[in-house]
Amino acid sequence: MGIERSARDTRGADDDGIWGGDWDCSGPWWRLGLFSVAILMAGAGPGRVMAEDPSPLAKAVFVIVDGIPADVIERVATPQLDAVAAIGGYTRAQVGGPVGTPAETPTVSAPGYMSLITGTWANKHNVRDNEGLEPNYDYWSLFRLAKSVDPPLRTGLFSTWTDNRTVLVGSGLADTDNLSIDYVADGYERDPDRFPPREHEQHIQVIDRHVAAEAAEVIATEGPDLSWVYLQYTDDMGHEWGDGPEFDASVRVMDSLVGQIWAAVQERQERLGEDWLLLVTTDHGRDVETGRDHGGHTPRERTIWMVTNSQRLNARYYRQPQIVDIYPSIAAHLNLAIPSTVAAGLDGRAFID
Ligand SMILES: [Zn+2]
Repeated sequence: MGIERSARDTRGADDDGIWGGDWDCSGPWWRLGLFSVAILMAGAGPGRVMAEDPSPLAKAVFVIVDGIPADVIERVATPQLDAVAAIGGYTRAQVGGPVGTPAETPTVSAPGYMSLITGTWANKHNVRDNEGLEPNYDYWSLFRLAKSVDPPLRTGLFSTWTDNRTVLVGSGLADTDNLSIDYVADGYERDPDRFPPREHEQHIQVIDRHVAAEAAEVIATEGPDLSWVYLQYTDDMGHEWGDGPEFDASVRVMDSLVGQIWAAVQERQERLGEDWLLLVTTDHGRDVETGRDHGGHTPRERTIWMVTNSQRLNARYYRQPQIVDIYPSIAAHLNLAIPSTVAAGLDGRAFID
C-alpha cells in the first residue's frame, strides 16, 4: 500500500504548479482524489476555489457475472451481494439497446461487455457476437479513458475469458494507442495443462475461483485504481441445465466469489481510508421458456440488474438504468473528466453523482 501512495505523492509533487504557490492549470487537476489537499476548480479558467478538506483516494472495481436473469438473482440467496446492496443499492436494469433502432444490441455476452466498457450500443462499438469480432476502438474503453485522462492510474483485468482484454479492450493494439493493463489474470481457459477440461464445465468453475482469488489478492495488496473482474461459470450452467437447481447452485458459487472481492475492498477502505466503488452486474438475462438461451429481446433476456456499494446514487439508478450508464457512473466516481470528443459518443448517463 505504501508503494502506490508514495508514487502518487511523488507524481503530485512533481507536477509544476500543483504544490507550489504559483497555481496554474498545467497539472492534472481533474482527479481531485489524487491529492491529500483537494483542489476544487470552479472552472477551467481563473477563479478556482481551493478547499483543505482531505479527499479520499477514489478507486473502482466492476464485476460482470455472466447471464443471470434478474428474477434469479432476486430468488436465490446471495448474502454477499445483499451485504453490498445494503450499503448502496440493488436495482433492475436493462441491456440490449433501444429495440427497432440501429442501436439495438443482441443480448449476447461480448456485445454486453462492450456496451459496458465503452458506454455505447453496438451500432457504435460494432460487437454483435462472441466471435469474429472487429470492435470499433474509436469509442474508448473505460481503461483507455482512465489512462488517457490520468496516465499514472493503474488498471487491472481479471477474467475467465481472455478476449475481454485482448479483443474488447484491445490491449496492446495500435488502434488503442497500445493501451496496457497493469495487473492481469487471464488466459486460464486456454491452458488445458493447468486447467484440464472437466465434464459439466467444472473447470470453468475452477478458473472462476482462481480469477476471483487473484483479483482479491491484487486488490488487497496493490489496489488498482480501475479493475474489471469477469466470471463465466453461471452462463455455462445456464446453457447446460437451463433454469433449475444446478443453475441456482452456480449463482451461489458466484456470490461467494464476489464476497472475496468485497472483503478485499472493505479491508482497504478500513485500513487506508480509500473510497471504493464496487459494482456487480450481469450481461444479459435468459429466455423464459427454458433458461438455456439468450440473444433476443424478450423482457427476461433484456432485464439485468446491478448491485453497488455506492452511496452517491441518484434517481436514475432506480429507474431502470441501462448497461451503458455504468461507464459515466464509474468515471464520476473516479473524478475522471471525460473529454468532450468521448462524451459526445456516449449513450448512457451517470447514476452516480
Ligand atoms: Zn453472457
